[in-house]
Amino acid sequence: MHKPDVTTSEKSSRHCGFSIATGQPYGLVLRVSAGTIRRVPEILEVESYRKLASRVVGATIVRGWADAYLAKKLTSPGAWARAVRGLTVESTSRRGKLLLLATSGPTLGIRFGMTGVLLLDGEAGIEGLFYGPHEFSAKWLRGGLEFDDGRKLLVHDPRRLARFEIEPDLSSLGPDALTLTKKQFDQLLAVDRGEGPAIKARLLDQSKVAGVGNLLGDEMLFRAGIDPRTPTGRLGMEDRRRLLSAFRATMNALARRGGSHLGDHMDARVPGGFCPRDGGTMMVATIGGRTTYWCSVHQH
Ligand SMILES: [Zn+2]
Repeated sequence: MHKPDVTTSEKSSRHCGFSIATGQPYGLVLRVSAGTIRRVPEILEVESYRKLASRVVGATIVRGWADAYLAKKLTSPGAWARAVRGLTVESTSRRGKLLLLATSGPTLGIRFGMTGVLLLDGEAGIEGLFYGPHEFSAKWLRGGLEFDDGRKLLVHDPRRLARFEIEPDLSSLGPDALTLTKKQFDQLLAVDRGEGPAIKARLLDQSKVAGVGNLLGDEMLFRAGIDPRTPTGRLGMEDRRRLLSAFRATMNALARRGGSHLGDHMDARVPGGFCPRDGGTMMVATIGGRTTYWCSVHQH
């Protein structure tokens, strides 16, 4: 689904010693066909990036570069180049939407923002994850790692919100959404005082659970039949049971289907849309800072 057409480009560019000849292998222009749904890299997409990155386990970094955007959380772009040189990648992991590379030195982190795509020698970590102009362009390659065997791991990011990190602080991130246990789920719904935030906002709170993005949050609530505005503390036992079940079913189903954008409610995510389950009018509001859709009939 959403297979990009692959054509070649004549252009070439050079970044800090990386010759990015856009003949091969960077000659790929990944153009996504018209009507493609915009895809933001959520946890399932980052898990695909992790699998791609795991192919460089055992390789040693001979060079790294980052532009000012990717290096925004570092002291300087040069800090990345200095920190990564000579490190051997030992393993890959992920906490929510943060990709982690454990190395012979510091742990390296990559955040992908709204449009970041991980590429390994021109191969995208996931198909169709292109946004805006829906196109690959060498000018949007913002940084990466070059290995002793000649391979390159690169971040392509038109919107400039992807970030590199060195020894990222994981203490601000909740447990990972793909492996959430019942106990962690109960902690996610715990409210200190009052009724707490709207359940949608709580699901998006990365300090409570890492990796639930906007589409996944809406899909879980759609499946559970819960109004996203419901205060977290007002959810009864039955609501909680249905939400946990929907939480896991959403993660499993969408991983199987191939992405966070393939939920049951997705086609109804348009103004004036109708629920695919019961034909109810879809409601839309900003909750937890994000555009939220829900069914006026079965979500209450
Ligand atoms: Zn409905």
